[in-house]
Amino acid sequence: MLVRLLWKPLPESWLPVAPQRSTGLRGLIAWIQEMAAGAPQGDDVERRVRRGAMQAIVREAFQQTVAEQDSEHRGPAAFADAWKARLAALLSQESVEVSGWADITIAELDTDLGWSLYAAASRARSETIARANATPSRRRGTDDAPTVSFEFSIAADGDGSLGRVQYAICEPCGVGLLKKISFSPEWHCCGFGSLALRELETRHSGLTWYTSGQYAHAKGFYARYRQGSDSPWTAKQHPCPHF
Ligand SMILES: [Zn+2]
Repeated sequence: MLVRLLWKPLPESWLPVAPQRSTGLRGLIAWIQEMAAGAPQGDDVERRVRRGAMQAIVREAFQQTVAEQDSEHRGPAAFADAWKARLAALLSQESVEVSGWADITIAELDTDLGWSLYAAASRARSETIARANATPSRRRGTDDAPTVSFEFSIAADGDGSLGRVQYAICEPCGVGLLKKISFSPEWHCCGFGSLALRELETRHSGLTWYTSGQYAHAKGFYARYRQGSDSPWTAKQHPCPHF
């Protein structure tokens, strides 16, 4: 949904405010599809270019905010605020340079469109975060017994996979090992890491969990998570002889 709003061509009949009858992400998707279906009449190249330019600026503000996540670690609400501040800063300039576009002159644009696009995209992001869930575990590759490898995704309706979790378990030793957990940068700090660890503990209850080489980059995360967990979640190299 977020991708559609920020990267795909916008329909001409874009409304300044998403209709209230839209309930949740499905409502928003239905609305966008209706808009797209009724689009072509009276659309002209110039208006299309202006819409595209405004969208490029909202997207640029989004990407600037995503680029700061490594240092800022903003949760969803703080991310939305920072994105909004970035957009305001761009729109307050006389012109903006965005990759793929010549200089965009702000005075030629409809800034209301920009703000309504920001509102819809920001809402889509928070709804995706709220709806994100773990898919069922699937066997992965072939293992030397007794270890068994699995993977699952964190996914949301209409957005596909937001990230991936790879792990293995050794039932006889009662050990679980999180091998890799990866989310694309726009979904960092959305609580999906904790969601993934909780899933592991629930799906394979009774195991003691460890993690792997990624540990060093996420010590703070594991330190917080460990407080509510019975497992050590450390990067101890050989939690059992079979790994
Ligand atoms: Zn073992």
